[in-house]
Amino acid sequence: MPLAIQGEITIVRGKIVSVEHRAGGVTLHFGNNRVEFPDAWATPGLVDAHAHVVGLGIAFAEGYLQSASSLEECLRRVAQYCYKRRGEWIIARGWNHEQWPNPRLPTRADLDGVFPDIPVALTRVDGHALWVNSRALERAGITASTPDPNGGAILRDKRGEPTGILLDAAMDAIYQALPPRTPTEIEQAIVSALTACSSVGLTEIHDMDVLPEDLPIFTRLAEEGKLRCRILSWVRGQHEEWHREGILPTTGEFHRVVGIKLFADGALGSRGAALSQPYADAPETYGLELLSTEQIVHRIERAIGDGFSSIAVHAIGDRAVSNVLDAFEQIRDRYPHSSDVRFRIEHSQVVRSEDIPRYVRTGAIASVQPIHCTSDAPMAERRLGERIRDAYRWRSFLDAGVLLCAGSDFPVESHNPILGIEAFVRRRPAGYTDAWNPSECIEAAEALEAYTINAHRAADLAYRRGTIASGMDADISIFDHNIETCPPEELPTIRTLATVVGGTLYEHA
Ligand SMILES: [Zn+2]
Repeated sequence: MPLAIQGEITIVRGKIVSVEHRAGGVTLHFGNNRVEFPDAWATPGLVDAHAHVVGLGIAFAEGYLQSASSLEECLRRVAQYCYKRRGEWIIARGWNHEQWPNPRLPTRADLDGVFPDIPVALTRVDGHALWVNSRALERAGITASTPDPNGGAILRDKRGEPTGILLDAAMDAIYQALPPRTPTEIEQAIVSALTACSSVGLTEIHDMDVLPEDLPIFTRLAEEGKLRCRILSWVRGQHEEWHREGILPTTGEFHRVVGIKLFADGALGSRGAALSQPYADAPETYGLELLSTEQIVHRIERAIGDGFSSIAVHAIGDRAVSNVLDAFEQIRDRYPHSSDVRFRIEHSQVVRSEDIPRYVRTGAIASVQPIHCTSDAPMAERRLGERIRDAYRWRSFLDAGVLLCAGSDFPVESHNPILGIEAFVRRRPAGYTDAWNPSECIEAAEALEAYTINAHRAADLAYRRGTIASGMDADISIFDHNIETCPPEELPTIRTLATVVGGTLYEHA
């Protein structure tokens, strides 16, 4: 049955009580109120299954370097207008040296020329690398003699001096030196992020790697009716933060804490993704294993003991994916009754064919971000060489019977889910005339499932949401075109007219 429909939908106390299919548009009935959307199409409310809500709001509030097309442009923006101070620090995020004419990693010397005295910390677009100046290194106490931390790397020049690029766990020293954000800033970030999400048709977000201290802010905003999208939280668990802070699962209509989030490796862009063979463009480099299989198993056991029903593990490289599947197998063997705990592999970007059946055997869900494929294709080709055939395997996952849910990883990519659906269907990186490895494309209807019903299956909520039918939650997105049948090249022009979340209507056009 198609997910996109036209007709009359009656909503009472947050639930859909009747649906009459009829061509010509969508009419919503709320008691005696009716709201008409002529020629429009309704779909189940779209879910972003992997995103960072606070990160998006902060990216709006702070400098955003995503579109800077060269190192000089980055420096100019940071210097002239596109930066914010945090205490005495200058911070911004979103640079991507892969999009510069000279795609070398920047250095502290590049920043020192402009900022000799003020500490500057600029996060790479993927969130897995920091570019800092000498003053920032000094503040964080990082010198030539500082060892690489576990799961991180301080890049060094020929003389052994830090270059100013810090990978993964090595970024922590800088974050600890920054003054903390205030709860008011976090609250404003959440509200502005969800306003933006709602305007592009999202009604629910799987929020990943949430800080324990931010959870009460979400809970309060939910109680005050200020969340325009439902939020499910996966709490930071890399260093067992959830356990140290005594965080337990919660239930609630608009906010619930459902799981923990771990990182098995870094990202391809910064060569932190753990590969089984060396990088094609760095023959000595295999990437970073941020947690061993044993450490993953230990954290999962602890999370299950705390009552969590979902475990999300970031794995981008094929070696990291294998390690995570090893951990999942050990848990399934040791706890035969653990089948109600959902396992997810976030990103699942490079996956060897022999590992795909292991997703099915362990019940692992592939949580993918289709726009990563189209925006990273040229970089991924350089990093992986011929192993590129193992990357972004959407059709392979679906054909094997793996549950595929989709997200954007915002603020790493645009929060607009329609662009994700377009990437799923067309798989065409900017500047390419043809689809890239087209055998892995999926249909628009399958793409829409990944953003709706499959995301709810991944969170055990499909009995309440993911279809427009009597008895289901009134979570609905209304668009000016039918996503399932619209010509793929027209997808990016689709506009969101309204969203309904728990029976509350938000009109966007
Ligand atoms: Zn992420």
